[in-house]
Amino acid sequence: GYRARSAYKLQQLDDEADLLSPGDTVVDLGAAPGGWLQVAAERVGDGGRVVGVDLQAIDDLESHVVETVRGDMTEDRTRYYLRKALGAGEDERVVDVVVSDMAPNMSGEYSLDHARSIHLARQAFDTALEFLKPGGDFVVKVFDGPDLADFRADVGEEFQYVRAYTPEASRKQSSERYLIAKGRTDVPVTAGE
Ligand code: SAM
Repeated sequence: GYRARSAYKLQQLDDEADLLSPGDTVVDLGAAPGGWLQVAAERVGDGGRVVGVDLQAIDDLESHVVETVRGDMTEDRTRYYLRKALGAGEDERVVDVVVSDMAPNMSGEYSLDHARSIHLARQAFDTALEFLKPGGDFVVKVFDGPDLADFRADVGEEFQYVRAYTPEASRKQSSERYLIAKGRTDVPVTAGE
């Protein structure tokens, strides 16, 4: 069984958008308690790897494919620890897929929860741009609201396409959406830019 019912959301996202392939390197942000890590590990197989990051400690998954980092993605040093866990050099981009299920502690105040969610999603986006290979994919949870359109447009500039998707398993959390961004573009800097 899975550690969290949210595992089914990643299965549905992957079935919908074809994200995880055998041998992939995956970064999972907001990974505790580890449901998405379990699904990702199954789908990348023995030749892949999955690095999960969370504020909370994650109990050992007993999978040689999975590694975890405890840290706050709003702090720069966490990205440094993530880079070390990936074994990547300073400017190396070694990741095929970045997924983020990060969510703020809910205050119950809609506009505050929305703003915090978009802030976390932007941290995930920055992390994706730092680590994703050209052609890599990015999936991020957001709570719907007024700042979502701007965020979606910003993501769209860096990928071949972006779309919103609500997995069946998310229906109960009515404002929860996932943006699926496929195919990180890697436009070289041109003269005069
Ligand atoms: N996908 C996970 C699973 O399948 O087990 C469930 C993730 S849960 C919905 C959201 C997680 O985001 C929480 O574990 C929380 O600690 C984490 N989180 C929230 N803010 C964070 C931050 N600034 N840095 C790292 N993790 C964060």
